[in-house]
Amino acid sequence: MAKFNYSKRVPADGTDAVGAILKAAADPSIISFAGGLPAPELFPVEAMKKATDAAYDEHGREVMQYGAARGVKEMRELVLQIVKDHENVVANDENVVVTNGSEQVLELAAKALVNEVDTVLVEDPTYLCAVDAFKSYGANLVGVPTDEDGLIPSELEKTLQAHPEAKFLYVIPTFQNPTGRTMPAERRQQVAELAAKYNLLVFEDNPYGDIRFEGEHVDAIKSYDKSGNVVYMGTFSKILSPGFRLGYLVADPEFVQKFTLLKQTADLGTNNLVQWATVKFYEQNNVDEHVKKISDLYGQRKALMEAGMKKYFPAGVTYTHPEGGMFLWVTVPGVDDTTELFKQCLEEKVAFVPGEPFYAGQPEPGHLRLNYSNMAEDQIDEGLKRLGKALANAIK
Ligand code: PMP
Repeated sequence: MAKFNYSKRVPADGTDAVGAILKAAADPSIISFAGGLPAPELFPVEAMKKATDAAYDEHGREVMQYGAARGVKEMRELVLQIVKDHENVVANDENVVVTNGSEQVLELAAKALVNEVDTVLVEDPTYLCAVDAFKSYGANLVGVPTDEDGLIPSELEKTLQAHPEAKFLYVIPTFQNPTGRTMPAERRQQVAELAAKYNLLVFEDNPYGDIRFEGEHVDAIKSYDKSGNVVYMGTFSKILSPGFRLGYLVADPEFVQKFTLLKQTADLGTNNLVQWATVKFYEQNNVDEHVKKISDLYGQRKALMEAGMKKYFPAGVTYTHPEGGMFLWVTVPGVDDTTELFKQCLEEKVAFVPGEPFYAGQPEPGHLRLNYSNMAEDQIDEGLKRLGKALANAIK
């Protein structure tokens, strides 16, 4: 029994399955593919120190004063430039809000839109913390089927016909968390068209899109959005620093206005120092080159993963082949409960995140998520050897 009387938004004790998994995987003798962190060795610490000095030197008083709830003007301009250059998203200042990471967009979107038992559509499987944010406001999550190419537009249309009351769709089209899959351009266009046809609000979350180590870039769903129904979400967490907690959204002005009201109550605005330091960092550095280094490193790590999985995984075990991002998704035939498998893997001193918690609907059996962005190269082979052994035992 808790000592105090918490609201319904607080998850019940014992329901933080993933927290428990990460805790169990933290033992240093365990090789853990369970995490989801960027590689800290590529954080541009020295360059950011210089950029922060410039922020203080040139804008010290603005840095230290309260700022606009929608963010520093120069930061909003930088966001507009980035989405245009990277995603072919053409927008104006009235479309932008700077946020505390993209996680804040998820939380405040839920707060803005979800009343108890409202329907929210998500890819099945999808990002866990989004599920948690939506659920904390009482959302009834409905999963939309996905395949190798991510969300299936015809399935989305069927789901919309069955659930015309749906408040919004949440989708991660590029290097999805947890699967690593990417939606092709045609599907993106179809989703934008369905958003217009059914007046559906779509949250397009793109934290990993810049980290591509293979294949060709695909523009955002938002770049096909003629109705204004798509809210595009970006973040600096995977390309600069997750510790900065800096993200943004690009949306229809009406949504921006409603969202900003809630942003004001949440925190009065995003940290000015972080915004100015980031603006200066972009002025002083070639960020594309920096991101290329990240992509190259993750590409090398993913190649080591593929080599190890090929060598050690028993026949029948399959996995996705992400062209970027930080995760891949493994399917183990004949294993129903990967949470149980996780326990067996701890005995072999290897860890992953079980697939079940990523599903809004009935979980598909036998999936698990592996991270490679933050794996030491010399641990990947040994970790996969241990995992391969545990999988072979489980399949037997
Ligand atoms: N969306 C997805 C799909 C993520 O994987 C993450 C981070 N793990 C986030 C949003 C949140 O990122 P941030 O708040 O750091 O921008």
